[in-house]
Amino acid sequence: MKIWANTRCNLFCRVIGLVALLGTIAAAPLRAAVPTDWTAPQKPFAIGSNLYYVGSRDLAAYLVVTPQGNILINANLASSPSQIRASVRALGFHWRDTRILLLSQAHYDHAAGAAQVVRETGARLMVMDGDAQVVESGDAHDFGGPGLLPYAPVHVNHVLHDGETVRLGGVVLVAHKTAGHSRGCTTWTMTTRIADRPEPVVIVGGYAPLDSYRLVASPGHPASYPGIAADFAATFKTLRALPCEVFLGAHGSYFDMQAKLRRLPSEGQRVWMDPVGYQSLIHDAQGDVQQRIRQQEQARN
Ligand SMILES: [Zn+2]
Repeated sequence: MKIWANTRCNLFCRVIGLVALLGTIAAAPLRAAVPTDWTAPQKPFAIGSNLYYVGSRDLAAYLVVTPQGNILINANLASSPSQIRASVRALGFHWRDTRILLLSQAHYDHAAGAAQVVRETGARLMVMDGDAQVVESGDAHDFGGPGLLPYAPVHVNHVLHDGETVRLGGVVLVAHKTAGHSRGCTTWTMTTRIADRPEPVVIVGGYAPLDSYRLVASPGHPASYPGIAADFAATFKTLRALPCEVFLGAHGSYFDMQAKLRRLPSEGQRVWMDPVGYQSLIHDAQGDVQQRIRQQEQARN
């Protein structure tokens, strides 16, 4: 705030300075809202034969490696791409071999770095319908409330639909639309080999409504978007039916990553196999959503 030291500063520039100062104070809680685990570095590691973790301590990013180049799932915060790039290189892979970029959801904590990843790697960005237009606007016009930060818009090369496959170098990823948390929230499934056996992988895209979401419409208070409660119900039905041995997600906290990492040295890659943990997450998450719906219905009456 050098402006205050300027003796020739007139009233106008003092007002501008005050506005700038207030703006800084107003913006501070937003920045402080980013948990330290979202930016704290995490040593990258192999999950299975063709699948690696390249995210931070909690914000997950996955590298799927194929003979014809690699697929990156999630670009995370605007500040994350350099960290992801360093993790990819530390594992011995080339950043420029990233051919395809996929996302778990269009929120800033998974998509804000997408523009930079695409610029640096030339990857094709493929995003689920419902989220594609959000990513192309930098989350400028979507539902969700003030906690969701806008980010650099990025062109989507291909709009995915529920059940569509993404194929590269013999690897097949399936995009499951698990909407509600965002309109095109995507759960990815694939197969990886652990202890030389093929195992089904589920990367959960998101399952919880934010505090600001309205799942039930009431007079003067529309639902966050029409059909959001039905979307959540369909999401839990979809998740419940997916075959899952290797349980992963958009945040490490979804699948207790840090606790499993502590077991990794003694137990090996089997620590990622947790079908019981997967089903219990779905069970608890669905209970929470149903409770939110009941509370909002009661408040309406
Ligand atoms: Zn989100």
